[in-house]
Amino acid sequence: MTVMPTTHCLPDKVAMAYAAGTLPEALSIVVASHLSMCDESRASVEGFDAVGGALLNSIEPVRLESDDNLLISTLALIRGGPIREQPAPKESESLLPIPLQEYVGTDIAAVPWKSVGLGVEQVVVKTCGPATVRLLKVPAGVAVPEHGHEGLEMTLVLQGALIDHPSTLQRGDISIVDQHCTHLPIADISSNCICLTATEGALRFKSLSSKLAQVFRRI
Ligand code: ZN
Repeated sequence: MTVMPTTHCLPDKVAMAYAAGTLPEALSIVVASHLSMCDESRASVEGFDAVGGALLNSIEPVRLESDDNLLISTLALIRGGPIREQPAPKESESLLPIPLQEYVGTDIAAVPWKSVGLGVEQVVVKTCGPATVRLLKVPAGVAVPEHGHEGLEMTLVLQGALIDHPSTLQRGDISIVDQHCTHLPIADISSNCICLTATEGALRFKSLSSKLAQVFRRI
């Protein structure tokens, strides 16, 4: 998947992948958290959900009478499975979006931050699959040294602001970059920046000589 650097809302390719359920859990948490904070992106995903539903409706039904056990087990799965009415996502009163609260709780002060050096702190969220998602606290004015990526990187700002040239991301804004992008995000000088960041691979730093690059390389 090739995704140009974006900010604020979901690009169609990502919205479609989320609606189809093909994103790894780590990336899905970031998208679900963003959707709980952005009406525009939520409308985009609901549009792709509707397309998927229409496609399912257009499929010719297949009779299962030759295999009663399969029919019975399928109906039992539907009745007892996770399919249920989904309430409309609501903006959380906590700093932490509701989809993320299932993983780390509701209180940002109770999150087990771990220092990685030079004032940067993180919490890795436990998920399954090939990608990693973490809460990251970057001191005001500190830059993540210039780097590239081995896959998708999604960043959702939860507190403060992140300057990712040419855009500035505020709370609820999402940035999605891929292996074709290099960038140098900087926490705005006004306050510490807390963001939820998911990556599909390691970051590739242009220079590892600075102490700050060594700190972010540990992440
Ligand atoms: Zn990056």
